Amino acid sequence: MNAVQAFHRRSIHDRDQFWREESAQVHWETPFSQILDESKLPFAKWFVGGKTNLCFNAVDRWLDSRADQPALIWVSTEVNQEQTYTYRQLYQEVNAVAAMLRAQGVGQGDRVLIYMPMIPAAVFAMLACVRIGAIHSVVFGGFASVNLAQRIDDAAPKVIVCADAGSRGGKVTPYKNLLDKAISLSEHPPEKVIVVDRGLFAFEPVVGRDLDYATLRTQFNDAIVPVTWLESSAPSYVLYTSGTTGKPKGVQRDTGGYAVALASSMQRIFNGKPGDTFLCTSDIGWVVGHSYIVYGPLIGGQTTILYEGTPVRPDGGILWSLVERFKVNTMFSAPTAIRVLKKQDETLLKKYDLSSLRALYMAGEPLDEPTAKWIAEGLGKPIIDNYWQTETGWPILAGQPGIANVPTKFGSPSFPVYGFDVRVIDEQTGQDLGPNQKGVLAIVPPLPPGAMTTIWGDDARFVDTYFSTIPGRQVYSTFDWGLFDEDRYFFILGRTDDVINVAGHRLGTREIEESINCHAAVAESAVVGIADQLKGQVAVGFAVLKDPGLLDVAGATQRLESEIMKLVDEQLGAIARPARVRFVTTLPKTRSGKVLRRAIVAVCEGRDPGDLTTIEDPTALEQIKDSL
Ligand code: ATP
Ligand code: MG
Repeated sequence: MNAVQAFHRRSIHDRDQFWREESAQVHWETPFSQILDESKLPFAKWFVGGKTNLCFNAVDRWLDSRADQPALIWVSTEVNQEQTYTYRQLYQEVNAVAAMLRAQGVGQGDRVLIYMPMIPAAVFAMLACVRIGAIHSVVFGGFASVNLAQRIDDAAPKVIVCADAGSRGGKVTPYKNLLDKAISLSEHPPEKVIVVDRGLFAFEPVVGRDLDYATLRTQFNDAIVPVTWLESSAPSYVLYTSGTTGKPKGVQRDTGGYAVALASSMQRIFNGKPGDTFLCTSDIGWVVGHSYIVYGPLIGGQTTILYEGTPVRPDGGILWSLVERFKVNTMFSAPTAIRVLKKQDETLLKKYDLSSLRALYMAGEPLDEPTAKWIAEGLGKPIIDNYWQTETGWPILAGQPGIANVPTKFGSPSFPVYGFDVRVIDEQTGQDLGPNQKGVLAIVPPLPPGAMTTIWGDDARFVDTYFSTIPGRQVYSTFDWGLFDEDRYFFILGRTDDVINVAGHRLGTREIEESINCHAAVAESAVVGIADQLKGQVAVGFAVLKDPGLLDVAGATQRLESEIMKLVDEQLGAIARPARVRFVTTLPKTRSGKVLRRAIVAVCEGRDPGDLTTIEDPTALEQIKDSL
């Protein structure tokens, strides 16, 4: 057993003492009386009776020691602006917004929906909410009116904070107009809408409802709003899952458990310390953004960089130039972003001084070995794959260099994170499986601090959805398919929905994709199982080429298809060989960058792809159709 595994073991076997120690990283206004109330599993309450506040831990706590340290650096390559806020300035901004919200009657337990681009006011609004005990629900800015209306109806916010517009890759999206439309579709219109006017897109304020952020800001220039101390299990926020597999679920998070999980993970997983600089390229609309753009780095006393822009504008070196300029110590990105870079000029990886950078963390979808190798070699830095879900709020599996430096294995997010009692379970029998056996990745309750406490407004759905699918056992299903090897390194093989059954053999989509991606011409791929009269299912692969020009070269795609089939034969055996490999220029993905395999299958089988409101680019599905 290595040191990371020993640490994990203690978290499970000496649970109370373990979390008592970890909880000391957080300020408790009132100490808790009990580590865990597990009398109503799968509902778990951590640090019962303790009172704390996320905003206090993220901001106020650093005023004594780090008031003049940059807390938030905003860089926008969309509007070519930058702005730095020290902890003292952040404190003032957050207090001003807290006062604005209070003035609209927002109090503890009220919901505030935040529909904003990656601008500082979005972070202020989040922190302001938790400061006064209001529950925020951040909706990703890439969503349009229908998605937004669904979330408004579910959360029933008293106030919505938005901006006139956002910009991505130079294309302006009129948030305020989309919001107006969403409100008109919704059954729960908010009382007030606070609008940050960036001057990007003209809009008509609704008289009596809309308020101008800048005007309010001057009214509350020096306002100080005392923090509302919250019982540990009081909700901090609601955030919807990405909607890759169906209707998004409103994940509810607590306060105290989340604070502890983040404070602890900043050290143990991200190996950081106060004063460090953290760059996370996610979006505040996703869980990674909540935990590691906003709360984690600030609770850890670090400087966080809020980047509005894409990884390829003005060129594919922009992220590395940020690392150089701001001496970033820890970076967090997603495989989808790195695959985009793979199609760019490779020398950009070497152009900047990256000596400050300790490691690049990646999460969100499978990190295939070719992509991992490409970026690891290109940067000369450790790549730390970490696996988690909106539901868990922080990593379930990860390399944990803050505990010990254990070598990583390509394709594996290493080991279970302390607090997560992770198992691989046979779906049919409900039994735990041993090394190298494929099964469902599950977590034995209680879920650790920081994980979801319920589905917003629907306790029954929480139990039904997550804890009722494994026969004979009340365990949390991740709905991902995986295994651990003889050294107990874990591997994610795809989602349980996507497992392909070819003539009785069960194959994870990821295994085949991984193999396809090993072909030098391929940038990324998606594999799905299509109904087949003879074999039950056959695998069909869709590949995106690094050089799309090859699509026009006579005979090239046929040659590539047979090379790829041969590659899969060699690596996985003929059973896994895709029946067809087709080439497209882009894959259908959710706006969070996850491949919509369900929709691909439907199109391939000639069915209606169903709800596509979370899709990034609908033309990608047409390409799939045309390629067949
Ligand atoms: P929904 O639950 O609404 O269908 P979603 O599962 O895509 O959407 P998220 O919570 O954003 O929503 O994504 C979590 C999922 O992403 C995981 O269950 C897993 O399938 C995938 N994932 C995340 N990180 C990794 C990783 N490091 N390796 C492999 N897969 C990952
Ligand atoms: Mg999910």
